[in-house]
Amino acid sequence: MNYSLTFLGTGGGRVVVFRQLRHSGGMWLHFNGINILIDPGPGSLIRMFERGLEPKDIDVFILSHRHLDHTSDINAVLESATESTKRKKDLLIAPEDSLKECDSVVLPYLKKGIKNIEYMKEGKEILYKDLKITGLIKHIHKGADTYGIKIEDRNKKFVYVPCGRFFDGMLEGYPEKSDIMVFNTTFTHPVPNVDHLAASDVKKMLLKLKPKKAVITHFSLQMLKAVPEKVAEVLTEETKIPVIAARDGLKIEF
Ligand SMILES: [Zn+2]
Ligand SMILES: [Zn+2]
Repeated sequence: MNYSLTFLGTGGGRVVVFRQLRHSGGMWLHFNGINILIDPGPGSLIRMFERGLEPKDIDVFILSHRHLDHTSDINAVLESATESTKRKKDLLIAPEDSLKECDSVVLPYLKKGIKNIEYMKEGKEILYKDLKITGLIKHIHKGADTYGIKIEDRNKKFVYVPCGRFFDGMLEGYPEKSDIMVFNTTFTHPVPNVDHLAASDVKKMLLKLKPKKAVITHFSLQMLKAVPEKVAEVLTEETKIPVIAARDGLKIEF
């Protein structure tokens, strides 16, 4: 059995992503034989080839929300993965507002290259082979529908906390004791009126949810200046849960 997570990018926030201070290709999740691409932002296709990963091997595509840093490369990746829709792919999951007719982040012709498109919703369970993919609590995130995501089989449970402003409901809306939990931790401390998680929010969630392992990623300039490894070290000390600061290209087995 083989479970791993490769970070094709770790940037977050306008400056870091759109000046490429960190890469922004999303995450490649390998779940015991099934490959899942999550949030292919700018450069995702390039980063895959750099890491020796093959777009044609992707089984499931997941967009946590429609913002460009999470979706801008989805069309290039689908074109590559489906050989321009000739080799159909199994499953694409995204919130409905990412895919609506007039304003879809996925080009209409490429949707024909996907056998099944599912809209992510709170509490919705999507079954794929041995996997169950569940939409968790809805986040507060700048007008884009965004949901927490749980992916599990009978052996492992992966949980993704995408972008959004912290609120107490998140302490109840996420499951406890997952094998690995990934947090889009854009800031060290909350920034008023900006809908992003901070390390201080992650601390509250870790103390309540107690995953076996946690990863912080999606870093802003504020976070890069604070040095993500140091922030992760403090979180580890404070929560007694191993917290890793993601780096571009980092691969974690879990
Ligand atoms: Zn966003
Ligand atoms: Zn983002």
